Amino acid sequence: MKLVFRDAYSDRLGRHVHESVVIENPASVKGLVSVVALEAKEPCLCDHDQEMIFYRGFTRLSAEVCDHCFDVVFNRGSHEYDMPPALWKEFCALHEQYKKTTRIAEPSDGSDAAGDSEGRDE
Ligand SMILES: [Zn+2]
Ligand SMILES: [Zn+2]
Repeated sequence: MKLVFRDAYSDRLGRHVHESVVIENPASVKGLVSVVALEAKEPCLCDHDQEMIFYRGFTRLSAEVCDHCFDVVFNRGSHEYDMPPALWKEFCALHEQYKKTTRIAEPSDGSDAAGDSEGRDE
């Protein structure tokens, strides 16, 4: 089981940064999956730059997410659910933790090489 968190944002210099955090620790992924209890919600029109992709064997489930949306993307469109608060909380914590350990896409204040800032993309 594997979980990929993807984030797209503009950094301070206006560059578009894509960042992927891969969570492969089985215990972490299991912990995340276990708090997923989905409740359908009314579609809202917020813009999503963040995506969670769950891999399990050959199955891939992708969801566009924010603090209140968990929009599962199927071939024929997206299905909107409420973001389970526990999942979001757990996820932010993991994301922070992985960001710290992998140091992806965190431009420092000019002291480091600027070419270092591109995130990993597939
Ligand atoms: Zn929304
Ligand atoms: Zn949203």
